Amino acid sequence: MKAFNYCPQCGYEGLDWSEDKRLTCHHCGFTYFHNMAAAVGAVLLHGDEILLTVRKHDPARDMLDLPGGFVDRHESLEQALTRELTEELKVVVGESEWRYLFSFPNRYPYAGISYYTSDVFFLKKMETRPEIVVGDDVADAVWVSIADVELESVGLDSVRSALCELKKINIPGIIV
Ligand SMILES: [Zn+2]
Repeated sequence: MKAFNYCPQCGYEGLDWSEDKRLTCHHCGFTYFHNMAAAVGAVLLHGDEILLTVRKHDPARDMLDLPGGFVDRHESLEQALTRELTEELKVVVGESEWRYLFSFPNRYPYAGISYYTSDVFFLKKMETRPEIVVGDDVADAVWVSIADVELESVGLDSVRSALCELKKINIPGIIV
């Protein structure tokens, strides 16, 4: 990544990005690790249908997504899921109700910087369809049969991988 040209500490031009995630200034010794961030995705399952959102903002605006987002500092993955579900869809799922599915690495380009993430996906089987109130950060939300999900309409690589995996397993048969 070459998003920065000058050392933020001393202004020296010629930062060393040769170690991929580590930025080093050989002039003053400044070092910055562009570490991976954690993000979560929710698979809300009702019958054989899952809830997909439509992205309101870039990257991948107008494309399909799963509810979720970045994990805040001092937050567990489950807390982040519960918070994001409430913020995005006004759906309340308790932190202890999430069942881990799988994780995939992702790259999230935003404002000229590539953020690398570990996207962790959790399942919540719903007995009834919850009432959805779409929040400010989401364009829309739709229930779709897993078999009918069009992977080419999914915006983010990790979410596409997750949905591809869901198509392979007999998810309605999972005991939750
Ligand atoms: Zn420097």
